Amino acid sequence: MSRRPTAVVIGAGVTGLAAAFALADSEGARVVVLDSSWRAGGKIATEPFAGVPLDLGPDSFLARVPHAVDLCGRLGLGDELIAPATGKAWLWVRGRLRPLPEGLVLGVPSNLAAVARSGILSPAGVARAALDLVLPRPAAEGDRSVGDVVAGRFGAEVHRRLVDPLLGGIHAGRSELLSVAATAPQLDAAARRGRSLLLALRRAAPPPTPGGAVPPVFLSHPAGLERVVDALTGRLAAAGVELALGEAATSVERGAGPGWAVRTDRRRIDADAVIVCVPAPATAGLLDGVAPRAGAFARSVEHSSVVVTALAYRASDVPARLDGSGFLVPRTEGRLLTAGTWTSSKWPHLAPAGLVLVRASAGRYGDERALQLDDTELVGALHAELAEAMGLSGPPVEHRVTRWPGAFPQYTVGHLDRVAAAEAELAGLPGLEAAGAAFRGLGIPACIAQGEAAAARALDHLRSLAPTR
Ligand SMILES: Cc1cc2nc3c(=O)[nH]c(=O)nc-3n(C[C@H](O)[C@H](O)[C@H](O)COP(=O)(O)OP(=O)(O)OC[C@H]3O[C@@H](n4cnc5c(N)ncnc54)[C@H](O)[C@@H]3O)c2cc1C
Repeated sequence: MSRRPTAVVIGAGVTGLAAAFALADSEGARVVVLDSSWRAGGKIATEPFAGVPLDLGPDSFLARVPHAVDLCGRLGLGDELIAPATGKAWLWVRGRLRPLPEGLVLGVPSNLAAVARSGILSPAGVARAALDLVLPRPAAEGDRSVGDVVAGRFGAEVHRRLVDPLLGGIHAGRSELLSVAATAPQLDAAARRGRSLLLALRRAAPPPTPGGAVPPVFLSHPAGLERVVDALTGRLAAAGVELALGEAATSVERGAGPGWAVRTDRRRIDADAVIVCVPAPATAGLLDGVAPRAGAFARSVEHSSVVVTALAYRASDVPARLDGSGFLVPRTEGRLLTAGTWTSSKWPHLAPAGLVLVRASAGRYGDERALQLDDTELVGALHAELAEAMGLSGPPVEHRVTRWPGAFPQYTVGHLDRVAAAEAELAGLPGLEAAGAAFRGLGIPACIAQGEAAAARALDHLRSLAPTR
């Protein structure tokens, strides 16, 4: 066979780009990256707004796991990363903004006195939460929902007012449906370790750092996260990787011999390795014919939709200094808003002269109201809620609505077992991989980790073929 060993990565979101970057190190292989869109980056998107580079999707990544930080380091961006200026956050609950109490782990209290002081729970809710210290430990079982675990220990108020907005917010989901093993493994481990979840979380807390300096939890790039995408595509181009934008993969088939064939809307590419890194519905369509169990898994993953609306206010219409990164809104409040990010306070370099930027988020699993409103209705409704929460005295002077339909895969109870079954099928199909937000983590670091792991397996496969060529 005269063809060079070939790997095709389908999807140029962060998962696919991380996979391609790992493959680009491979000696001699041809690497092709396909994306149906005319831009790389998928959900990572930065655009100018009110004169500053604003992230329309993710605005930061978790720094306490290595994958995104390490990748940025390898791209030469490590020294440029910045942390939010403030870690303080608020909850819009019981009629006003209240500071989130210290010691929360994904919304679960490790300090009940702080929760009591915050006024977020009713006195009865605080009393019920304290029962966590004495209730017997439930029998260890299989996977459960986050809501079950938390409500069982602390009662409904902690679940609905603290955990659902925090954890449900990360997934735009309902914590009574989300798998604790898949979305909150540290909570799952704590719940299995001891009787009291609160005491187990307290014991698992990292020891104070010498000198009291707290390493940042989140990091971003001052030019927006698309800077990371640009660095990746630049390095891929330099390594000779073919990045084909505006070219959708339409099927993955068995090729001649042991390989695979990827069809696109304009050609057929014969490949030894294929890494599918597209959203779950597209993954299902591509895998059905070659890996039906993995395809069925991808099709079974439900998704929620969100709308992110950037609003610029005159600084004179914003009453006080916004002391924090923003606020979350529990579902129980019945609001359209799920969160208001005080972008100009969280990222002071995103404070245009005389303006204050706010990012309003709406939409979660089972609540598509925001998606159904047109831009004018949506901006009006969000502004009314922001004005009530924050005391704004004038309308926004600029806005930008970004709709993200079906953007958040829901890891419902049993998710990890279903992923494992899909992966077991793929393991029997050498050279075929699937990765990304629907599988093992939707945060940017988890997507990078999955892309890199899939590339490592694909490279092993390419190397195993080398002597026979
Ligand atoms: C509003 C919002 C806020 C978020 N906030 C954060 C945050 O603050 N921090 C964080 O860590 N994460 C955040 N996330 C999650 C994170 O951004 C995503 O989970 C992650 O970027 C997904 O990367 P991916 O590569 O798996 O998929 P995607 O980014 O969806 O990329 C998939 C790519 O596949 C392409 N594609 C689809 N079909 C085909 C086809 N047939 N052929 C070829 N290409 C195809 C698409 O065009 C796309 O470019 C947020 C997500 C959203 C939507």
